[in-house]
Amino acid sequence: MTITAAHIEARMAGLLPIGLGPAGTNRLAWTAEDHAAAEWFRVQAEDLGLLAERDPAGSLWAVPDAPGPWWAVGSHLDSVRDGGSYDGALGVAAAFEVAARLPRPVAVIAFADEEGARFNTPTFGSRALVGRLDIADALARRDGDGISMAAAMRTAGVDPDGLTGAPAWLGRLRGFLELHIDQTTELADAGAPAGVVAGLAARLRLALHVRGRADHSGTTPMHRRADALLAAARVVVAVNDLAAGRPGVVATATRLLSEPNALTTVAGEVRMWVDVRAPSGGDLDHVEAGVRDAAAAAAAQGGVRAEVTVASRSEAVTFDPGIRAALRAGLPPDARELLCFAGHDAGILAERIPAGMVFVRNATGISHAPQEHVEPGDAAAAAELMLDGLRMLTGT
Ligand SMILES: [Zn+2]
Repeated sequence: MTITAAHIEARMAGLLPIGLGPAGTNRLAWTAEDHAAAEWFRVQAEDLGLLAERDPAGSLWAVPDAPGPWWAVGSHLDSVRDGGSYDGALGVAAAFEVAARLPRPVAVIAFADEEGARFNTPTFGSRALVGRLDIADALARRDGDGISMAAAMRTAGVDPDGLTGAPAWLGRLRGFLELHIDQTTELADAGAPAGVVAGLAARLRLALHVRGRADHSGTTPMHRRADALLAAARVVVAVNDLAAGRPGVVATATRLLSEPNALTTVAGEVRMWVDVRAPSGGDLDHVEAGVRDAAAAAAAQGGVRAEVTVASRSEAVTFDPGIRAALRAGLPPDARELLCFAGHDAGILAERIPAGMVFVRNATGISHAPQEHVEPGDAAAAAELMLDGLRMLTGT
């Protein structure tokens, strides 16, 4: 039977209220809301005759009673703070609809802490699974209330000491497909309910540290200042101009900490972070070089010291060509593949096993906010695309 809007709505109905408040959905990792979502997952699994398990990283698996390795479908159930209803959740709901219809048994997975909203540990579950998680660093992180991740995991019933055992579970998977809300208006602009993702953009995070001299903002003449914030501001503008001058590249000064951050003091020290995403690693190199030049120029001009370091970098991910071809078979021949500028569990898994993604149209392009919206009919069409693709891939 075809997957319909009603199937998607029915599957989502139990999940939508979990963590929903006046400002949006709050389903952060290792919380009571996260636990309630795991209960929802267990019920869906049992309905399908799948066995609900939790891997050493706390990711939820619904596995068939058949020898692996299996193909798996899924996404994540956690949200950002005051997030929307569909990011992640829709992919898990749709995954159960797909799993219910495939003749060949497949697993459903909800990866733990994909958003990383509580401890700044995005794609936690999938990175643990592929063995690319800095475990000691992650466990030592603390949330806004000072609770360490290790303690939070223990409270949620997951033993943090078991994390090293997570990669042993990867061998159970033949491949992974993820359905996700489009976080742009690209599909809406194209008038398409669903699309196939070619890969994920390369990503770079730069940290800028400017050291000037704190001084009285009234009594210090303009020419005697070493204004760290002014130098940082010049870099903010340079970041924007660098991206604007290079097609396909986005770059943003996202976070800025100014010291002493007082009303009558020239800023003595600034720390700033820059987020860059681009189709290729070469684009990242270009922007990084430009930011370093801009920081050096701003430092020379303003009499401050400026240092740029790479906080993190991940290369572009290309999804498995076989999976993409199988998924594209259900689309019009002129449908263009999408390049995704956000991080996803499927992108992490793609380093080790065949993986792919299907996006669902989002009329506003908004995500990570309560305004994010998907029409159930579009989600059903995307789930059908994934179902047909998996039929092809599993030869059924
Ligand atoms: Zn997501």
